[in-house]
Amino acid sequence: MPFLNIKIYGIVQGVGFRPFVSRLADEHGILGNVCNKGPYVEVLAKGSQASLEAFLDGLRHRAPKRSTILNIDVAEQAISPSFSRFDIIESAKETGDIFVSPDIAICGKCKDELFDPENRRYLHPFINCTACGPRLTILDAMPYDRERTSMGEFPMCDACHEEYVSPASRRYDAQPVCCNDCGPEVYILDGEEQGADAIRRTRRTIASGGIVAIKGIGGFHLCCDAGNENAVRRLRERKHRPAKPFAVMLRDIEAVRRECFVEPGQEEILDGHQKPILLLQRRPEGSIAPSVAPGNPNIGILLPYAPVQLLLFDYPDGIAFPDALVMTSGNPSGAPICHTDQEAREALGAMCDCILSHNRRIRLRADDSVMGWLAGKPYMIRRSRGYAPLPFMLSRDYKGKVLAVGGELKNTFCLGSNHLFYTSPYIGDMTDLRTVLALKDSIQLMESLLENRPSVVACDLHPRYNTTGVAEELGLPLFPVQHHYAHILSCMAENDIHDTVIGVSFDGTGYGEDGTVWGGEILKADCGSYARLASIMPFCQAGGDKASREGWRIAASLLYDHCGKDRKRTERMARDLDLCTEQELSAQLFLLDHQLNCITSTSAGRLFDAVSAILGIKKASTFEGEASMQLEFSAESWKEGSRPLPSFPLRTAEDGRLLLPTFSLFQRILQHRLEGASVSLLARMFHEGLADQIRMACRRIRETEHLSAVALSGGVFQNQLLARLVRERLTADGFHVLTHSLLPPNDGGICLGQAVAAMHFINTKRSD
Ligand SMILES: [Zn+2]
Ligand SMILES: [Zn+2]
Repeated sequence: MPFLNIKIYGIVQGVGFRPFVSRLADEHGILGNVCNKGPYVEVLAKGSQASLEAFLDGLRHRAPKRSTILNIDVAEQAISPSFSRFDIIESAKETGDIFVSPDIAICGKCKDELFDPENRRYLHPFINCTACGPRLTILDAMPYDRERTSMGEFPMCDACHEEYVSPASRRYDAQPVCCNDCGPEVYILDGEEQGADAIRRTRRTIASGGIVAIKGIGGFHLCCDAGNENAVRRLRERKHRPAKPFAVMLRDIEAVRRECFVEPGQEEILDGHQKPILLLQRRPEGSIAPSVAPGNPNIGILLPYAPVQLLLFDYPDGIAFPDALVMTSGNPSGAPICHTDQEAREALGAMCDCILSHNRRIRLRADDSVMGWLAGKPYMIRRSRGYAPLPFMLSRDYKGKVLAVGGELKNTFCLGSNHLFYTSPYIGDMTDLRTVLALKDSIQLMESLLENRPSVVACDLHPRYNTTGVAEELGLPLFPVQHHYAHILSCMAENDIHDTVIGVSFDGTGYGEDGTVWGGEILKADCGSYARLASIMPFCQAGGDKASREGWRIAASLLYDHCGKDRKRTERMARDLDLCTEQELSAQLFLLDHQLNCITSTSAGRLFDAVSAILGIKKASTFEGEASMQLEFSAESWKEGSRPLPSFPLRTAEDGRLLLPTFSLFQRILQHRLEGASVSLLARMFHEGLADQIRMACRRIRETEHLSAVALSGGVFQNQLLARLVRERLTADGFHVLTHSLLPPNDGGICLGQAVAAMHFINTKRSD
């Protein structure tokens, strides 16, 4: 009888792959075994020629939906061991590419069992099966086996063990399997209640307008009735978060249709096995309280993905419970999401009325992923739970291991291993020391899970970033990568493009090679180098850090230039625009006059802030990007055609790069504003004018550089209106436009670009 050794590479761990192989083998009368080797799954298979062929065909075409097979190696062996049946055998570790499954939302079958009074897992808050449940967040080490997860502390009862070992069961080989008898337990932290009582108290508290911190899959959420304006306001006060939108978890897809406009493709994402937060346009007649997302036409919606969240909405206790819950990350402002009882007690205790926790440890934090929608596809804003750490695969023959520590805001990091690049869950903003510690811990854990010992560490060029400090401490060769170049490399890598592109990198602020602030850049980029071919018109950014939160400061600087540095005229104009107080203006002009705390800047983000300020939309931001987001919403609300703008010519800077005439655009918007034109129309004109200028610069670069692919990246492209306008224009001009989809265009995506730069460097250096 022929005997095959089959190696299957890809996401084949923790997704029910071995049970699938075992059932398939039984179906075809195959003898042998299957084993998790870490980097791959190995199958030894003995059977007739025909049955082996059918078996291989099944492996290729009937694998579980959540697995991703990259490659199957089949070798026929002459000497065959003797087998009497087909077994799943214990994991033996080997080295090679490693795939860790992200956490998977509860599946339909488990949901049915959860609410079936006849089922022995009726109302069990930790129900899961081979196809669903936590993965990355409970993993201590690879390969993925119960003893190396947080479930190792909970020995299976006989009934669970029976399911775990029987191939016909839905829980065959499901590592986190458990039940009401043997599983973890929910409880009110520092309270009396456990199990059912704890859930009842949580429901009662929320239904009566209270706030509860709830431990989920990747961390704690703060939770209250999203239809109760008072409750939402109280949460805002306690969290010191005046305006930044909260995400809302809705009971089911019916509730989503009632509250928001939603396309079929979006429903699929909302209800899929990843269950991210999706930004949807709210219906005017919806019941969600205004304070959930003040001044925002959209709302971040998600569906329950953990069994305990389903139990919140439905429990046989007679309590009338709302359909919509605020579900916001449970963290003190700036710090990472709380993931232990200790953290929750200290940081969230004062914000909520009680804490619903449980005793299954979270090993790695994972915030909810957040996405928008662009051109019929997801447009990632925060890539975390459900997606991390799935790797990006490049079709390049890279060899080696690198670490990239990412950016300072919205930090994520990336481990590169040959052609695979694993990006981490969301870590947070590195201005907070607690987040820096979380970054160090997470790097250590991911390095050990993925068995990655990097030889080089990539970081941002900015010498004073905390991430740069973290990179330096590792004692490895450092590879600094310019911020806007990293953005473009990320977009190229996500699209698996390796040829030279025109990179439109529009962003907040990043450290430029000439020591100035960069941010609205057009680069010529390939994997090894870049050149700055164009930028927006430089302006003076005065006032240090404050200038990045207070757009009126940038506006004042541009007004001053517009008035030919005439103080009196500037003051008059600022008064007409109600830009700031006289005192504030005079302090700002003093800085500009004496070039104090002033830096030359081409930040596109700051330009948006300045326009938002002169239009009276938002003069300062209470959270990153607020002013430019409001400018985008205002532009989106303009439904009557735009007014044409004159085509201002491109200019040339001293270093030879092209300058987009953004200052002329600003002046024109300003002039119309002073004449009393509609704010929304002007917001719209600004977006269109900028998109026109980007198109003009790309056309000019195509003539001289003969490049036809354009990559769009940087935080400014989180602005979906701008992304759409630029994309449409460039596509119409015959450019091949590359955009992000599953990696954020903002700083949460730059770790991939940094990692690719470092990987490319060690590979080209080696061949020199
Ligand atoms: Zn399930
Ligand atoms: Zn059990």
